[in-house]
Amino acid sequence: GVEVKGTTRLLGLIGDPIAQAKTPSVINPIFASRGADIACVPLQVPAADLQKIWAGLKATSNLIGFGITLPHKQMAIDLCDSLDPVAARVGAVNLVRRERDGSFRGYQFDGRGFVRGLQAKRITIKNRDVLMIGAGGAAVAMAFALIEAGAKSITVSNRTLEKAEALASVINGDFGRLVAKAGSPRPQTGQLIINATSLGLNETDALPLDPGLLHPGMTLAEVIAQPEITPLLSQAQARGIEIHSGIHMIKGQVDLIADHICELWS
Ligand code: NDP
Repeated sequence: GVEVKGTTRLLGLIGDPIAQAKTPSVINPIFASRGADIACVPLQVPAADLQKIWAGLKATSNLIGFGITLPHKQMAIDLCDSLDPVAARVGAVNLVRRERDGSFRGYQFDGRGFVRGLQAKRITIKNRDVLMIGAGGAAVAMAFALIEAGAKSITVSNRTLEKAEALASVINGDFGRLVAKAGSPRPQTGQLIINATSLGLNETDALPLDPGLLHPGMTLAEVIAQPEITPLLSQAQARGIEIHSGIHMIKGQVDLIADHICELWS
């Protein structure tokens, strides 16, 4: 285990609920392996109390930042003293870091964590066409990061058409070379297909995509990490499709967060 001493710097993790969070058990061994005297601790914070607790966290000077999970990712935007451009663009924060001047700056690693997870598994992104199913917060973050990593095009498909169109127009506005469309998912040869919806979290959920439309040469990636193999991934695997669990996105994010914290505070 991690040895917590009087000198230990604390990295919080705030959310509601928080008991299911995997980040502390993944990031603490990373800090220990780097010889950093830093410990990540979960903090149960109801949405209604975020503002009040924020002031307390700021005044706790051995607290060098905190990870943010549901339901605080969007609200935190307004409370940070400054924002990394990616966090501002996505409209959500998942790490707040205390900077050297004591201020709290918000960062967003969901998308870049997803990309790092793909790269760790040597899954091709460069020049690849992407089919994004879903247009919520995770989809927006991943879309920006995939473009940054060299994806050729992103086609967005979502239950609520307006949200798919909104994401498509943001992508096209920022990166004119991209083809972004809305509509029901129609996988094409060789695509990287991403389930960015919450379908698959519960056993009774419908599949986000008809697995009969999947063919070898495609890659199917999930955002859902629990269960590690969703019903969709399992069906895809049975059809000989390359699959990528949502767990890799968490690992990628945790690596980036550890780098970012250690760069300033170890
Ligand atoms: P949002 O609420 O912002 O978006 C949810 C998305 O799922 C929307 O596109 C929504 O469609 C779609 N959706 C929800 N229910 C249904 C349904 N019954 N049928 C069709 N589509 C549906 O959530 P997030 O983007 O923040 O999160 C999405 C998922 O990603 C969650 O499961 C979350 O746990 C996971 N996630 C995983 C991370 C990781 O590190 N592995 C990081 C971040 C998120 P509509 O627009 O029509 O409502």
